[in-house]
Amino acid sequence: MTMETQRSASHPATPPSAASSGPAPADPGTAATPAPPAASPEKIKFFADREKIYPRNIHGTWRQIKWAVLGVLLALYYIGPWIRWDRGPGAPDQALLIDMPGRRAYFFTIEIWPQEVYYLTGLLIIAAIGLFLVTAWFGRVWCGFTCPQTVWTDLFMWVERKIEGDRNARLRLDKAPLSFGKAGRKIGKHAAWLLIALATGGAWIMYFNDAPTVVRAFFTGQASTAVYGFTALFTATTYLLAGWAREQVCIYMCPWPRFQSAMFDEDSLIVTYEDWRGEPRGSARKGQSFEGRGDCVDCGLCWQVCPTGVDIRKGQQMACIGCALCIDACNNVMDRFGRPRNLITYDSIANQNARAEGRPVRMRLVRPRTLIYIAVLAIAATVMAYTLVTRDRVDVAVQPDRSPLFVQLSDGSIRNAYTFKILNMERNNKSYTLTTAGITGAMLTVIGYQAEPATSTVLPARPDDVATFRVLVTAPPESVPLATHDLWFVLTDQATGEVVEHRTVFASSGN
Ligand code: SF4
Ligand code: SF4
Repeated sequence: MTMETQRSASHPATPPSAASSGPAPADPGTAATPAPPAASPEKIKFFADREKIYPRNIHGTWRQIKWAVLGVLLALYYIGPWIRWDRGPGAPDQALLIDMPGRRAYFFTIEIWPQEVYYLTGLLIIAAIGLFLVTAWFGRVWCGFTCPQTVWTDLFMWVERKIEGDRNARLRLDKAPLSFGKAGRKIGKHAAWLLIALATGGAWIMYFNDAPTVVRAFFTGQASTAVYGFTALFTATTYLLAGWAREQVCIYMCPWPRFQSAMFDEDSLIVTYEDWRGEPRGSARKGQSFEGRGDCVDCGLCWQVCPTGVDIRKGQQMACIGCALCIDACNNVMDRFGRPRNLITYDSIANQNARAEGRPVRMRLVRPRTLIYIAVLAIAATVMAYTLVTRDRVDVAVQPDRSPLFVQLSDGSIRNAYTFKILNMERNNKSYTLTTAGITGAMLTVIGYQAEPATSTVLPARPDDVATFRVLVTAPPESVPLATHDLWFVLTDQATGEVVEHRTVFASSGN
């Protein structure tokens, strides 16, 4: 449990357990939820058995929002690799691509080279701070609406309902002895799950390969072992996590619920039960008076629709992912009984305390915690955007020879050799002028390009390529009296005048 509602002393938060998934369904409005049997001491186990959850279908505003978010996110995921983006001849035309063999990542106009992987770190930092901010404002909205585990589990549950029926039908089916009908439904469900899982794993592979090419190769048996292997891995992962593990991922596997409560405060919006107006609860019939009792008719619909089996009336619980489906469920019940909506509501603890005491409520989006997150987010985003816009599109890597460190020529001059690389990150041919600085009288020789020593030389670089050269630097002995000297390679773009400098070491005898 990560958080408790302080005002809810009569409904202490409980860890996710069988108690929250409850017994067989009660007809809303006619029967009370039976109390669970008291646990005998000898039956207490260190590890609880999993109680299978049979979420009931529900209609309502939040369900509609969840369908809309699910549709948009799945469409983005499956369509993403098929979006084309013209980068010119010789360049991949896939908008979103991580090209492992080519050692590039493409995101529309942005192209990331391996040495720029820190942009990925920056992106993760921005995403993390953004998540902190959203959590401080809207609670577990990420978990309830946009987390891939939630989205795919929702999709798998929809398939399950279409094939096996709603909650009561599934309960009956699971209790029924094996028959052709039962086997057919179970096989059909798992086949559909596997197909979705295959599409999901396959789509993931397309982000690392040209989508049309890899799909053709996949179905003609010509894809690589890695493609088949990773597709199988991600298919199995999707099938197991969304089909079998479901809420257990949120409750036991995911670290986020463990520390997301650190982002909450009493003004964070969360899904909560208004116990001050719901209690004392009890079963009810349509048209009866609610005088002297609470609005909760104890129908159990709120925990029956819950994908993690939580009874929100017991207070805030770690297993509650904030999906808001129990709000829809309870609103439907309140409508039926002519009672005010939002007995289960999306509200802050501060507002709930105020409502309970008849004080005015308020929405506090600006508070110290959120201001800090906004400031850090703004700084991180600005730094990231600035470095992206102003980044160099040419880079230099220099590796001095280690053995020998230097050679003394017959005229007494000292020569060092270097492996010199130009990373041309632009999509056109480039010419650069290479000079040196730091050592008086240093002369350059580039093997294969310039046989005679000179103070400067011109080096070509093909588009989107790494050009490698063997560069010899010769210096008069009087200019290099120490064992090591700083030497600067200065590379100037002949077309734009952009200059890249790289410091390295020049070794000498030190005499
Ligand atoms: S909170 Fe609402 S949905 Fe839940 S048992 Fe009470 S009346 Fe039913
Ligand atoms: S308690 Fe309500 S908001 Fe929380 S996971 Fe269950 S249905 Fe969703």
